[in-house]
Amino acid sequence: MAFDVIENADMTGLNGLRLPSLAQYFAQVRSEAELAEGIARARTRGLAINLLGSGSNVLLPAKLPGVTLQIDIPGIEVNADTVIAAGGENWHGLVMKSLDAGLSGLENLSLIPGTVGAAPVQNIGAYGVELSEFVRSVRAIDTRTSETIVFTGAECRFGYRHSLFRMNGHFAITAVELRLESTFVPRLEYSGLVEELAGDAPSAIAISLAVCRLRRRKLPDPAVEPNVGSFFKNPVVSVDQFHAIQAQHPGLTSVKWSDGSVKLSAAQMIDQLGFKGVGQGGAAISGRHALVVVNSGHATLDDVLGLASSVQQAVWNAYGVELEIEPVSLPLRS
Ligand SMILES: Cc1cc2nc3c(=O)[nH]c(=O)nc-3n(C[C@H](O)[C@H](O)[C@H](O)COP(=O)(O)OP(=O)(O)OC[C@H]3O[C@@H](n4cnc5c(N)ncnc54)[C@H](O)[C@@H]3O)c2cc1C
Repeated sequence: MAFDVIENADMTGLNGLRLPSLAQYFAQVRSEAELAEGIARARTRGLAINLLGSGSNVLLPAKLPGVTLQIDIPGIEVNADTVIAAGGENWHGLVMKSLDAGLSGLENLSLIPGTVGAAPVQNIGAYGVELSEFVRSVRAIDTRTSETIVFTGAECRFGYRHSLFRMNGHFAITAVELRLESTFVPRLEYSGLVEELAGDAPSAIAISLAVCRLRRRKLPDPAVEPNVGSFFKNPVVSVDQFHAIQAQHPGLTSVKWSDGSVKLSAAQMIDQLGFKGVGQGGAAISGRHALVVVNSGHATLDDVLGLASSVQQAVWNAYGVELEIEPVSLPLRS
């Protein structure tokens, strides 16, 4: 085998919250052939398969059973308005490369941590733009059958922080094909972005730089305060539910979607309940951003989930809204 398999691998440095975790087996695969081989070997031995990118959005237990395959496949091809990027490429690197090639569309998604292969899993989104708008196809290996499948954008069943891959967990994404724009159309729905541009002509590069500045200012740096970004998804409710909540809590930030549902701000609810800076064990709600749980020192998964549960309960009691956890808990239960 061309790649090393490590038994009892220390995963502490490979998850955003730096939770202590030992993987039963761990291998980093650098090509589709290595990935296929890793999957085949795990299947032969009847071992569960955990898929990992850079680990910025996972919650790991103290012991992670089965084989954890970190997908580190490199390669980016640009051809006219089409970009094909391999699963192991860094997401922000891809954004930069597409802007360098004169292609726009991804600038609002600048500086989102993680790999290209993980991006379709939760349909990454920021500042009014979602990845799904650009996906032409996603290439993946089904870890149950070892079959290679190419999904069209529609077949990926993208939604808000959601996709077929997130529902299923069995598709190891090896490459993503995107159709980008050669004619720039600014996306400035997010009002904070217009303010940040402060009169600069909104070129794709100016927007990318503004998004980077906003993100650096608003979010705690995972290298300094370990975190997985937003810990909860923004809740989506019906219009009737929204009116009932608004009657009791005027001033709640909301975004109306075309299907009539309304997205609420989980950060605002958590902030209003006074959770900023509140800790439980080694986990705490960031003092900078109410949606972010940080490892404030030797946090365990129990500390993190205990704190999350207190927040969920308080939001439910105050607003009657369920907060769903955004990062993925491995191993997946299937
Ligand atoms: C500071 C910070 C800010 C963030 N901001 C945003 C944001 O603005 N918007 C947003 O949408 N997200 C955001 N995130 C979340 C995170 O950046 C994304 O979820 C990202 O796509 C995770 O990439 P990763 O490679 O680290 O995935 P991992 O954390 O390694 O994995 C995440 C999930 O994807 C699966 N997976 C990983 N690679 C593959 C693959 N090749 N094939 C199949 N499944 C795979 C894993 O099994 C797991 O279920 C943020 C995170 C942090 C830490």
